[in-house]
Amino acid sequence: MDKRDYYEVLGVAKTATPEELKKAYRKLAIKYHPDKNPGDKEAEEKFKEAAEAYDVLSDPEKRQKYDQFGHNMGPQGFPGGGFGGGHGFTMEDIFSQFGDIFGGHGGFDMGGFGSAAGGRPRKRQRRGDDLRITLKLSLEDIAKGISKTLKLKAFAKCDHCNGTGAKDGTAFVTCPTCHGSGTVMRTQQTIFGLSQSAAVCPECNGDGKIIKENCTYCNGTGVQHKEQVVSFNIPAGVADGMTLTVKGKGNAPMHGGVNGDLLVVIEEIKHPELIRDGNDVVYNLMLDFPTAALGGSVEVPTIGGRARLKIAPGTQPGKILRLRGKGLPSTEGYGTGDELVNVMVYVPETLNDEERKLIEQLGDKPDMKPSDSVKDRIFSKLRHIFD
Ligand SMILES: [Zn+2]
Ligand SMILES: [Zn+2]
Repeated sequence: MDKRDYYEVLGVAKTATPEELKKAYRKLAIKYHPDKNPGDKEAEEKFKEAAEAYDVLSDPEKRQKYDQFGHNMGPQGFPGGGFGGGHGFTMEDIFSQFGDIFGGHGGFDMGGFGSAAGGRPRKRQRRGDDLRITLKLSLEDIAKGISKTLKLKAFAKCDHCNGTGAKDGTAFVTCPTCHGSGTVMRTQQTIFGLSQSAAVCPECNGDGKIIKENCTYCNGTGVQHKEQVVSFNIPAGVADGMTLTVKGKGNAPMHGGVNGDLLVVIEEIKHPELIRDGNDVVYNLMLDFPTAALGGSVEVPTIGGRARLKIAPGTQPGKILRLRGKGLPSTEGYGTGDELVNVMVYVPETLNDEERKLIEQLGDKPDMKPSDSVKDRIFSKLRHIFD
């Protein structure tokens, strides 16, 4: 199918400014609008064609690509647009653009066609603000998971007026603007002439009634800022920076509605000795040379407390000893990480005369020097660290 040049479709020059494009498209959209041309297939095609042309040319990036490559770019040239072959636009897509194209506040009133037809405008449920707190947790807490009970200050529903803001929760009068319906009719100038539409009453926000006398405890707001006790569970295995949502434990909105949420941001307290690596923890163990050479038993920290670890004779620096299941559980509920003990061997930095002499004597012994085959074996075991 031969596609018409987008500039030609809109009837503008290649140098058209965004304003000129908008004006041209607006003109065509009015001319070929399905409301004005019911059942006219050709008008519908033209309407879609204009929408597609405008979609591309009004986007500087797409326009540049189009100028460079024309229609030949195919769908990959216009990601998500579906242009290049046939019309990717549905009528709904086009209508959803009208807010931008026709400007104005609250978008363009489609005067009954499209999806806006009929029905009462829905009053929006008020929702309180979310409350955000940071919770510092030790690795021990994270490993087990904990329940927390906190006191925090938040806006809560006023007890004296049941959150309404009206004295005793009953001092209301019928809204004079909408006479209790909660809805007002609005007349708007649209591109097709005057249009009437129903809107939520701005005075009572759709309640149909307004406060006659304020609740004196909350000054008519319906909320009080007060301390409350909140309890929630932190699952095991959470990570630094994670946010947990405690539903409905945030602020209450003014004049009634649903509470916001409490957002708990996890901050991990650094462990003095253990380094977290996902669900594993790493401990750097510094062995003295005699223990590394002769073997023995050392104490290492773990999340659950100290543990004894057997050191085999001839343990090399760079060896990683694994304490299975001594890491952290996964938040998904399966598997637990390990503790990885990274062995280092301490080489003395200062020596007295006696120590120096002993090491000199030792240095002459045949087993002190690694043979080539020993080197190969040790290096091949360490190789995985650098892979
Ligand atoms: Zn009203
Ligand atoms: Zn009150």
